[in-house]
Amino acid sequence: MQILPNVSYVADASGKRAVQRCDFLAHPPFSDTPDGLFRSYLSPAYTATVKQVREWMEEAGMHCRIDAAGNLIGRYEGITPNAPALLIGSHLDSVKNAGKYDGTLGVILGIEAVASFHAQQKRFPFAIEVIGFGDEEGSRFPVSMLTSRAVAGSLGKLPDVQDAQGTSIQQALQESGLDAARYLEAAYKPSRVLAYFEAHIEQGPVLESTHHAVGLVTSIAAQYRFKVTMKGMAGHAGTLPMHLRQDALAAAAEAISCIEKIAQSGPDDLVATVGHMTVKPGAPNIVPGWVEFSIDVRAGTESVRNKAAETLTNALQEISQKRGVKMELALQHDLSATPCSPQLSNILATSIQTVTGQPAYALVSGAGHDAMIMAALTPVCMLFIRCEKGISHNPAEAVRDQDVETALRVMCDFIQNIPSEKAA
Ligand SMILES: [Zn+2]
Repeated sequence: MQILPNVSYVADASGKRAVQRCDFLAHPPFSDTPDGLFRSYLSPAYTATVKQVREWMEEAGMHCRIDAAGNLIGRYEGITPNAPALLIGSHLDSVKNAGKYDGTLGVILGIEAVASFHAQQKRFPFAIEVIGFGDEEGSRFPVSMLTSRAVAGSLGKLPDVQDAQGTSIQQALQESGLDAARYLEAAYKPSRVLAYFEAHIEQGPVLESTHHAVGLVTSIAAQYRFKVTMKGMAGHAGTLPMHLRQDALAAAAEAISCIEKIAQSGPDDLVATVGHMTVKPGAPNIVPGWVEFSIDVRAGTESVRNKAAETLTNALQEISQKRGVKMELALQHDLSATPCSPQLSNILATSIQTVTGQPAYALVSGAGHDAMIMAALTPVCMLFIRCEKGISHNPAEAVRDQDVETALRVMCDFIQNIPSEKAA
């Protein structure tokens, strides 16, 4: 049973309305495809969504602009004009055949929080800026988190990429009335920013299985991706005796089972996945001579991830040697962990306790979010919202109105309690 005390909050801004607005945005003209939501960066559906969300921002008392990267930004001034801003953001783009709440809900909740303060004529020593990021998913071009990298000032240069139709990003920007040459001007000066907050659906089953409406994100996971190649000897499946085989697939199978055990024996936030494999020659009557597979390892801290990676590397070497198979392991992707600000997270934990009457449930985000990019600019913190069965990137994605209401109340309480000086 949840306690929802009357934290300063106004009725027509609500979790229910936030859910309804996300539902409203799940269909054309806000989706590029009529059956199943797909909203890609700078597409007609994206433009229509920005126009609609902008109206909601203005209704909530914000002044809006589209930045040089095509992000929608609404600003709610503080007590004194031009004060540094608390940024509340998430993404408005989506994957193909998406759920309705991934990203969009975080933006809409930011608007609901501001709408509530606006109705009470409440202002803070800092401004609030709600940002709808244009590209988090890599929805149109083969790059992701492009627009938060532009805002955080970490993009370096606009990548020279094309969408599936062969339209360059320069051309897409031009069609949206933007100038590629000015893209990097989307960067904020750190002095203009107080902190970054993001509310997002969990996209996993942990909050549901532990019966929590919301969760406190302690960090965004560190990730390694490896490509493993195992070379044995192909041979006749009928004539080659078992003890003379160098079966690359049998070695890989033992390796996968071992990788699973290593992850299972680590802390809860350690996960390891073999999600892709190629087997050659790939015929029923040939002993496999060559196998390539991926390993994805993630954990809340680099030390846990690195230790797991070391353990599994040793284990795979042992398996290969024992089976007379040659193994190569190449690191393809190395992403550091993004710790959330301890100071902001403490305040958020107190807000969760105040609103729900339960201690905050803390968890690591195994998925990447705009927050991990924004951490290069300013201290960040994140709130997760329970989603049904943990399903995401799927039209079956679902949230409860009551949970979103809880998230909104937590956000409103949090905003009223953050310090007006930059957090640690
Ligand atoms: Zn997302």
